[in-house]
Amino acid sequence: METASKDLIIEKTANSKIAQVDFDNLPFGKVYSDHMLVCEYKNGAWQTPKIQPFGPLSLDPTAKVFHYGQSIFEGMKAYKDENGKVFLFRPEENYKRFNISSERLAMPAVPEEVFMNGLNELLKLDSDWIPTTPGSSMYIRPFGFASGSGLHASPADEYTFAIVLAPSGSYFAGKVKVKIEERYSRSANGGVGFAKAGGNYAGQFYPTQLAVDEGYQQVIWTDDTSHEYIEEAGAMNVFVRINDTLLTCPTSDRILDGITRKSILDIAKAEGIATEVRKISVKEIIEAAENGSLKEMFGAGTAAVVSPINAFGFRGTDYDLPELNDSYANRLKKRMTDIQYNKSEDPFGWRVEVK
Ligand SMILES: *Cc1c(COP(=O)(O)O)cnc(C)c1O
Repeated sequence: METASKDLIIEKTANSKIAQVDFDNLPFGKVYSDHMLVCEYKNGAWQTPKIQPFGPLSLDPTAKVFHYGQSIFEGMKAYKDENGKVFLFRPEENYKRFNISSERLAMPAVPEEVFMNGLNELLKLDSDWIPTTPGSSMYIRPFGFASGSGLHASPADEYTFAIVLAPSGSYFAGKVKVKIEERYSRSANGGVGFAKAGGNYAGQFYPTQLAVDEGYQQVIWTDDTSHEYIEEAGAMNVFVRINDTLLTCPTSDRILDGITRKSILDIAKAEGIATEVRKISVKEIIEAAENGSLKEMFGAGTAAVVSPINAFGFRGTDYDLPELNDSYANRLKKRMTDIQYNKSEDPFGWRVEVK
C-alpha cells in the first residue's frame, strides 16, 4: 500500500518481520525494523522523501562514496516509557550536527523537515518495534552518502539521505582496559575529526586492532602533534575524575562535540559536582594514578551513555583504577537515562515526544 503527500511518500511492507524477533534477547545494532526512510538529492534539490520496506540500496559501481568516502552519519535513540509514549533525546542537536558534518564533506545540507518529519513518521510507523525491556531502546542511524557517480575526484552531484532503525538491547560492554595511543592519531587540526564522517572510523580500526592484540579493548586517542594530551576514548568522548572534580577536554577540530558529553556536564553541574573543561595531560593522569587521586575514567556517547574504564596502559605499564561504590559514572548515567526514559522530571527540556 502506498500513500503520498507532497512531503512524504509511504510504502508499507506487505511482510512484517516483527514476529521473528526475540525482543528479550536483542543484540545492539544488528536487527532492523520493517521500514527505512530514503531521500535522494539530484538536479540540485532534495526529492520527496520516501518511507519504504527496509532492504538493499542499488548503487552504480562508480558512486563516489566508494571511491572518495563522502559519507556521514548520526547516532541517536528513541525510548518508550511505561505508558507506551515514545521520546527522542535532544534530536535537534543530531540534526544540526548532521549538517555540520555534511558541510565539511562538501555534501548538501539536509532540510530540517526531511530529517525531523521523516524520523518522526518512521518511528510512528515502526513504533511496535521499539523495545521495552530495561535498558533497551530503538537505535536510530541517519546517514548520508554520495550516490552520484564518476571517477573524477570531486564532490558528487547526487546524494542519498537515509534513516534505518535498530531495536537494540542495552549496550553493556563491561569495564574496559584502554591503551593510551602515542603513534596513531584519530584526527588532526584542520581535518574532519569533529564530523561524524565514515572515514574517521575506518582509520581507527587498525590501531584499535593492534591495541586489542596487546590485551586492551579500546584506545585513548591523544593530540596528533605532541601526543601529550588525551582527547577521546575510542569513538566516545572521555571523562576523568581526579579527587572529586570531573574533567573533560574542550572540543576542537579534532574532537567530536558529543551530545552525551555536554549533557553529562550539565547534569554534573546541576548535581553540584565540580567540573572543569580543559586539556588533560597523560602526565597528570599517571601522577594521579600513582598518588591515588585518580578515581574514575569513562567514555561518554549515545550507545552506552557511559562506558567505565577500569585500567589504562601507557608505554607498556598498566595502571588500575579503583572500584567505587559511589561512582560519578553510575550516578550520571542514572540521572541521564531517567530523563531519557521519562522516569524523572526533565528540568533541561531535553525530551521530545514522538507523536
Ligand atoms: C558520536 C561520537 C561521540 C559521541 O557523541 P554523542 O552525541 O554523545 O553520541 C564521541 N566521539 C566520537 C568520535 C563520535 O563519533
